[in-house]
Amino acid sequence: LPRVRLPADVRPTHYALSLEVVPERESFLGQTRIKIHLDRPRETILLHAAGLKIGSLLMQDSGGRRIEAGWREGEDEGMIELRPAEPLGPGLTLLRIGYEAPFNLQLEGLYRVEVRGRAYAFTQFQSISARLAFPCFDEPGFKAPFDVELTVRSEHVAVANTLAVAETPLADGLKRVRFATTVSLPTYVLAWAVGPLDVVEAFPVRPQASRRQPLPLRGIATNGRGPELRYALEHAPAQILALEEYLGIGYPFDKLDLIAVPDFAAGAMENPGAITFRESLLLFEAANAPQEQKRSFADVLAHELAHMWFGDLVTMHWWDDTWLNEAFASWMGNRVLQALYPEYQPGVWMLEAVHGAMSLDSLRSARQIRQPVESAHDIENAFDPITYDKGMALLAMFERWLGVETFRRGVRLYLERHRFGTATAEDWLAALSEAAGRDVGTPFQSFLLQPGVPLVEARLGREVGRSIVELRQSRFLPVGSRAARDRTWQIPLCARYGAGSESYETCTLFGGPEGELALEPGIAPSWVLPNADGAAYLRWSLAAEDLRSLREWGWQSLTPRERLSAADSLVVAFEAATLPADEIYAALRTLAEDETRAVAVVPMRLLRFARECLAGADLRPAVEAYARDLYRPVFGALAWQAAPNEGPEHKLLRQDVLEFLALVGRDPQVRAEAERRGRAVLGLDTNGALNLGAVEADLLETCLTVGVQEGGPAAFEAARKHFADCDSALLRWQLLRALSAATMPELSARARELVLDPSLRVNETLVPLERQRDEPAAREAAWRWLQEHFDAVVQRIGRLRAGLTPALAGRFSDLTHAKEVEDFFRPRIDQLVGGPRNLALVLERIELAAARIAAHEAAARRFFRRWLP
Ligand SMILES: [Zn+2]
Repeated sequence: LPRVRLPADVRPTHYALSLEVVPERESFLGQTRIKIHLDRPRETILLHAAGLKIGSLLMQDSGGRRIEAGWREGEDEGMIELRPAEPLGPGLTLLRIGYEAPFNLQLEGLYRVEVRGRAYAFTQFQSISARLAFPCFDEPGFKAPFDVELTVRSEHVAVANTLAVAETPLADGLKRVRFATTVSLPTYVLAWAVGPLDVVEAFPVRPQASRRQPLPLRGIATNGRGPELRYALEHAPAQILALEEYLGIGYPFDKLDLIAVPDFAAGAMENPGAITFRESLLLFEAANAPQEQKRSFADVLAHELAHMWFGDLVTMHWWDDTWLNEAFASWMGNRVLQALYPEYQPGVWMLEAVHGAMSLDSLRSARQIRQPVESAHDIENAFDPITYDKGMALLAMFERWLGVETFRRGVRLYLERHRFGTATAEDWLAALSEAAGRDVGTPFQSFLLQPGVPLVEARLGREVGRSIVELRQSRFLPVGSRAARDRTWQIPLCARYGAGSESYETCTLFGGPEGELALEPGIAPSWVLPNADGAAYLRWSLAAEDLRSLREWGWQSLTPRERLSAADSLVVAFEAATLPADEIYAALRTLAEDETRAVAVVPMRLLRFARECLAGADLRPAVEAYARDLYRPVFGALAWQAAPNEGPEHKLLRQDVLEFLALVGRDPQVRAEAERRGRAVLGLDTNGALNLGAVEADLLETCLTVGVQEGGPAAFEAARKHFADCDSALLRWQLLRALSAATMPELSARARELVLDPSLRVNETLVPLERQRDEPAAREAAWRWLQEHFDAVVQRIGRLRAGLTPALAGRFSDLTHAKEVEDFFRPRIDQLVGGPRNLALVLERIELAAARIAAHEAAARRFFRRWLP
């Protein structure tokens, strides 16, 4: 795998790319001209090219003199070394390379997809796949303008980052499309789409103060799917305007295309002017789309649009600052959602994502947000919840601490100072400190540069005449962890506390390990919450009596985010085993009844763990009975059908509760009704035709799943047939997940065989194994199957995505399996991109699950025995 960086003193200053892209062929042709600036004379020039068959190489010095040159593979994978006959530079040099390369089939670089017998070409270059499509300096620090021309079939559509400015007919049924020169861009955000595409023109986005020109807006999809772009095109303009208003800088490119890609490895990709999405995020079939799809679309679109500024306009200088792209895009995107879709409760979603990152960050093998990046493994690992969600939490925490307007001044200063260039964490902190008029860097870096989640232990101290909150901090560690606990952070910490019907807030910069927070003099608080609004990146625990007071006196005054934070403190107690399991399981009812979805679903995770890992076969029915007891009333209130004007979060809660009752609580009535509806959708008792109207869109997947689980071979066969006939990415996904949840052993085996079935899209390949990993009855067989077919799986999905395969073994909870997983992956893992760290994380998770079982098993069994039906 590639390791080294290119030298910094050889820089591209302009690219001219010319490619012939005919997706029906096996390969494409390219001509690349790069103007290079050399700071000093050089005998060799290193650049990136992977799998390109180079046919011609020409170099010219700054005087236009032609220089003979040879080339050879660099000593690092994906690099070539050019060797001119005489030393070049200093100054400008021109490099011209002609080549041919195969279309990639694993969704990397310039790749080919076939849909309904028609071939298309799309690109995905992040992080280091531009080198598969053209020779280049494939690092984010090397930004340069690009002139692109694409030679395509005359009846095809060609899309790139900028507007097409000329089209020339050529011989042999081809045409050449030339695109406007781009602003300075890094290689990883270039994008092209070629094929018989549908193009839907929307109204241009109206101009406003920071952008004088209307912005051309289009949707692009494969042939015939154009009409499904309408929903996305209707929602994009408001988001763009909201971003421009906050940032004070107009959308920085000459047009915007939203492109639905039928087979796509990521969720979406922020190519300037040409954002690519998975079809299942961008295409909406009907007014009756599931709520989850609408919410995900709004969320992902806002994140990608924010990238037009954070990442595209200002690019991180190197991958160690990937968070400058991703954390900012997530934080900014969430802000846009809060402004435009308050009914989605974006602030609660943000905290839910942050809690997910905390679970990862609690591991000894966790990365820092800003982690040194020295290899392709490190680059790939940088795209994780630590970068995205811990980074987002960090920005939101300092925004609240400094004030919204001060923070915004810092953001604008940062963007204005580095627009069209690159930036580092230091650049951001300098801008923020300048806007704030004080040093923000030191506390900020205490989170940026060390892994882990602070645990703040709080106790209400009642001295005579003076109330304080006593604080202690250390690193939060789950029971069984072998990491070091003695760490401190500089935490902008606010506590909320109440007396009578009033509540108050007080803040400090808590540098620990011990400290205190002075409360308003003369007030005798009856309760305290150590993390007001859940705003600080930390987990907390309260002294037992203070926790009781909070539940009794404070609960009604807590915001949804605060209740979610309090729910996490119960998870903290479970993971660290600081409270006995029976006490924790008994406390779940208040959470399950909470009106906020994110709070109401917290117990589900703990109950799943009890059913799978703590109960044993004899007490599993007891866990299921308790699960039903908690959630039946919730589902009863929601019912099978959404009320008119019901809020989106209610719809999502209905989906979550139904799935939980059907698959974990094994509720017989719920399963019977889900089966009935699932069979109706599959057309089992009618003419065999798919009938999507038989169930609310939000409940479709669960009904299909139960229908397949209960319906035997006939149901499996029907779902398989509908899957084969289906072009809708979302419906395919739902059918495939239902098929993969089949529990009869012979059907389970057939579901696994789908992994290597050519009718699956590449991005669907791992779905059966993921689903079976999560289903205890199928887990072992899925793991065996993966080991037996591992090479074929890697072949199909590529070494890049195969780096994620250790996670397919991530739900085991015993040391025998930990050893097996390690023995299997260890000799293979260095060849899978990002694999070594992903393996370490999985092994640690298994080890910790085993420790959690040892700590909780006895008390949990004591608790659940009472629930035996
Ligand atoms: Zn992103």
